Amino acid sequence: MPTCSPASLPVSVLVAAVRGFKSAETADGRIPLAVQCRFRVPPADSGGRAAWTAIRAIPAEASGPVRMPGAPDASDTSLLPRIARLSAARRVSPHARSRSPFIRLAFALGRRQLAGMAQATSLPRNESGIETAIGVLKQRFGERLQTGRPVREQHGHTTTWIRNQPPDAVVFARSTEDVAEVVGVAAAHKAPVIAYGTGTSLEGHVNAPAGGISVDVSQMNKVLEVHAEDLDAVIQPGVTRKALNEELRDTGLFFPIDPGADASLGGMAATRASGTNAVRYGTMRDNVLSLEAVLPSGEIIRTGRRAKKSSAGYDLTRLLIGSEGTLGIITELTVKLHGIPEAMSSARCTFPAVDSACQAVITTIQMGVPVARIELLDADCVAAINAYSRLDLPVNPLLLLEFHGSEAEVAAQATTFGEIADEFGGTGFEWTASPEERTRLWQARHDGYWALLASRPGKDTIATDVCVPISNLAEAVERSQEEARRLGLYSPILGHVGDGNFHNTVFFDKDDDDERAKCEHFIAWLANLAIELDGTVTGEHGIGQGKIASLSSELGTATEIMSAIKAALDPDNIMNPGKIVIPG
Ligand SMILES: Cc1cc2nc3c(=O)[nH]c(=O)nc-3n(C[C@H](O)[C@H](O)[C@H](O)COP(=O)(O)OP(=O)(O)OC[C@H]3O[C@@H](n4cnc5c(N)ncnc54)[C@H](O)[C@@H]3O)c2cc1C
Repeated sequence: MPTCSPASLPVSVLVAAVRGFKSAETADGRIPLAVQCRFRVPPADSGGRAAWTAIRAIPAEASGPVRMPGAPDASDTSLLPRIARLSAARRVSPHARSRSPFIRLAFALGRRQLAGMAQATSLPRNESGIETAIGVLKQRFGERLQTGRPVREQHGHTTTWIRNQPPDAVVFARSTEDVAEVVGVAAAHKAPVIAYGTGTSLEGHVNAPAGGISVDVSQMNKVLEVHAEDLDAVIQPGVTRKALNEELRDTGLFFPIDPGADASLGGMAATRASGTNAVRYGTMRDNVLSLEAVLPSGEIIRTGRRAKKSSAGYDLTRLLIGSEGTLGIITELTVKLHGIPEAMSSARCTFPAVDSACQAVITTIQMGVPVARIELLDADCVAAINAYSRLDLPVNPLLLLEFHGSEAEVAAQATTFGEIADEFGGTGFEWTASPEERTRLWQARHDGYWALLASRPGKDTIATDVCVPISNLAEAVERSQEEARRLGLYSPILGHVGDGNFHNTVFFDKDDDDERAKCEHFIAWLANLAIELDGTVTGEHGIGQGKIASLSSELGTATEIMSAIKAALDPDNIMNPGKIVIPG
């Protein structure tokens, strides 16, 4: 009888391992006796790798129970029925699911989503308040207040189909005091103020549906302090992620959060951004220690200090992170830094289908392989980046990975992933420690969105963003592809899949009513699919104007608490009105 080393086997790991085991499932989905496992999970989890190795070592013809040494067997629960149930649940036909009342509501919810956006984009204007506030601020800021149309339009939403709603004026702030002054004047005249970092947000976040004043903080771009010994830095909000890393170049430290665009750290905090490294290093939520911010009243507050942890009262840092400039304008951030790993290697592997690539991701994560990046590109994305970045990757679903650690660790992680990929039909697995090759691949990945745009010149796009628990990733991606196909939409997929986060970039012609309607339906449908799979309607892009109705579908009455917080801090609704919640 095969034996396993005394490792604990979390059910998820076992299921993942069984899925990977070549003979684990017969064509009709039954689990053969070869993988009957009868054991009690020991209390300490010593990791999934030993389990994986042990289960893979089970010969296909083995028919007896596999016992963990040291685990008593008499009262042990057989996992077989549970695995079979899980397996069966995974096989529920999409059509069976789509007959559920929930999905029948999808079209209705799609209409609700549009209604939510219509509400968010047509707010009443306070003409006299805006005019008076601009007059006062012009005297104070002179040429640093601009009212020319091109500048105003550039400070409205420019990145997707949501129509541009320019502010009435743009003030270029250079200090916290400048921001406080603009907000103070705006508050006195009940004029809207909208914070602006680099304008790369994707859901209409910087639009001015009620007009008002855009506060551009891009000139607040100084790295104020680097505390290398404490692994943190104090920065102004206009510092971009690339500029921060450039500044840190000689310290052996780096800041890991990397949205595809070179966004400002203030904007990234405001949208609770993440990126390719989040699977290992977390999101902005995990990497900001404290903030300084100007509240809608014009008051300046500090939400914490530099300590790595704190139990001091309500967590205002995290209230502001993800608040999209609706509760305060961030004027300073204290961020965590990380040591540049001793070794880094990148890998790529091609899969026969998106589903098998997702299965490899799920297993990698469930096995506890500490990947730093694991990104999915479907075949359309690969074709686009080949053309855009002059690469010659096989035009099939692709996983791009990065491993961080010591030289031995990155080699071990790459080898483990190679074995997992092999189980799921991965081919062309290659890994490299060459910095040039790594940079080339990751630059191509980061340019993925632009590569897609270049692949269909003249088309409009919307880059959607949902995130599901990792075990639901394959189903979510597969069903999103099916629905896009059913609607006749071209909708390539890119994803930070290690977190269960993926983006469909939907192409359409916004002057074609039929295509536009399909696109709107698809986006609402996808948000509802994410909710159905216990995920979220946005993993990283945020709510802005575009996802207001989806937010209430996801969180229900919790959004009323959000409205109450907004009303308490901003009773006149001057700070970025029409985003996240619309006060009743
Ligand atoms: C090609 C491309 C790829 C992208 N990839 C990713 C990705 O991988 N991950 C990801 O998370 N996002 C991604 N994004 C979205 C975008 O880059 C992020 O949302 C980013 O965090 C926005 O930062 P920004 O400086 O451009 O903010 P802006 O667009 O200027 O503002 C965004 C929101 O934050 C508010 N805001 C800005 N500055 C402040 C401040 N100082 N205080 C308070 N509120 C403020 C604004 O009012 C607005 O509501 C991508 C976008 C593009 C175009």
